[in-house]
Amino acid sequence: MKILKFGGTSVGSAHNMRLVANLISAEEPKMVVLSAMSGTTNKLVEIANKLYQQQTKEALDLTENLHKIYREVINELYTTEKKKFAALDFLLSHIDFIKSLATGPFSIREERAILAQGELLSTHLFQFLLEELNQNSVLLPALSFMRIDENEEPDLTFLEEELTALLAKYPQSNLFITQGYICRNAFGEIDNLKRGGSDYSASLIGAAVQASEIQIWTDIDGMHNNDPRVVPDTYPIAELSFDEAAELAYFGAKILHPSSVLPAKQKNIPVKLLNTMQPEAKGTTISAQSSGKSIKAVAAKDGIVAINVKSSRMLLAYGFLRRIFEVFEEYKTPIDMVTTSEVAVSLTIDNTKYLPEIIAELKEFGSVQVDTDQTIICLVGDSIEEVPGTTLKIFKSLKDIPLRMISYGGSKNNISLLIATADKKQALKALNTGVFERIAEHA
Ligand code: ADP
Ligand code: ASP
Ligand code: MG
Repeated sequence: MKILKFGGTSVGSAHNMRLVANLISAEEPKMVVLSAMSGTTNKLVEIANKLYQQQTKEALDLTENLHKIYREVINELYTTEKKKFAALDFLLSHIDFIKSLATGPFSIREERAILAQGELLSTHLFQFLLEELNQNSVLLPALSFMRIDENEEPDLTFLEEELTALLAKYPQSNLFITQGYICRNAFGEIDNLKRGGSDYSASLIGAAVQASEIQIWTDIDGMHNNDPRVVPDTYPIAELSFDEAAELAYFGAKILHPSSVLPAKQKNIPVKLLNTMQPEAKGTTISAQSSGKSIKAVAAKDGIVAINVKSSRMLLAYGFLRRIFEVFEEYKTPIDMVTTSEVAVSLTIDNTKYLPEIIAELKEFGSVQVDTDQTIICLVGDSIEEVPGTTLKIFKSLKDIPLRMISYGGSKNNISLLIATADKKQALKALNTGVFERIAEHA
């Protein structure tokens, strides 16, 4: 079985939904994972925010606006009155549900239920379309098999068991549709896999059914060597290893959810990144193989906080780093970069939920300095240290940009640099011409 995930833009209009219906029409077994139509989840977040602020009228207006947008899509999408009515009816029941949450207490539970509406709508509208096109497909509810545990980690055993049992009910079917992003949590409530989480759903499902391939269909022709939102001259990379792709996803390449590579890597399932609007483009294939030694891409992750702890007690002492790391462990806050000197350690985090508590505890070790609005620039490739001149090219490119931290040698796959977010654009552009030969040759 192949898993095909289509992102927000790919299902973002009646026209694109039809493109997707055409792309999936071949005979081999397929599970299609859909995101919400583009813009929907942002709108649902907005509605939830208004409800938190008790701005009921604004929330209802936004909901009615969503209703209108979807009515237009429905009118364009179906040719038969029967399907149009069925879809409008379905839409109305979900709009009414959102509106029903506008009265009464509003908590994170109601918020998550609202956020789930985007994927529920897109999958049902798509299923109606397939029915109208006489394509034999089965809509499987993700809320019945996708579950996270108390630590918000996916419950893989549950997923595998439930999904296998569900698929066994339809031995005659070759085409399954399901929702990305949404799941239940350890309490059985509606929850989600965090923003951009449909990629993660696809990869978890792929791993659960031991798929032959996971395809992530989006609005660009694969993983590019640099952030196309920031740098104009970027190009797609044909092949990446799981490790390279995971680093890029984690350090800001938005095309993939940060956690989505690992399940595929663990089951050695190739992942293809493809363009719905340009299906003939080669895209990127992510597999266990690396396509050679060199820097392949750069990504940037914003919202980073750097913490520096300076203490003369660190000099010639052992156990010091362990005690510092324990503070972060206590607050379940992952550390991304670390650099040390004889009397100080600098580390970065992106989850600032417990920052005040962490700083208070770190102050017991010595003086603590915190820098916000930082960005990690992560250069990713294979056996980087074996390619002479690589670091020279990087530092030459960034000669005018202050570097707050440098991390090199932690793995063969990456060099990370910490800079002020204000310098990000300049840094990514300078690296594009300074490090990537293909760009330099044409510059
Ligand atoms: P989808 O809705 O299909 O999940 P996303 O918006 O989440 O799509 O991801 C695709 C977008 O990721 C692209 O349109 C592009 O702007 C952005 N992006 C950021 N970095 C990269 C990169 N290195 N390569 C390709 N796309 C990238
Ligand atoms: N709809 C969700 C989001 O916008 C999940 C996804 O698109 O992957 O974050
Ligand atoms: Mg995405």
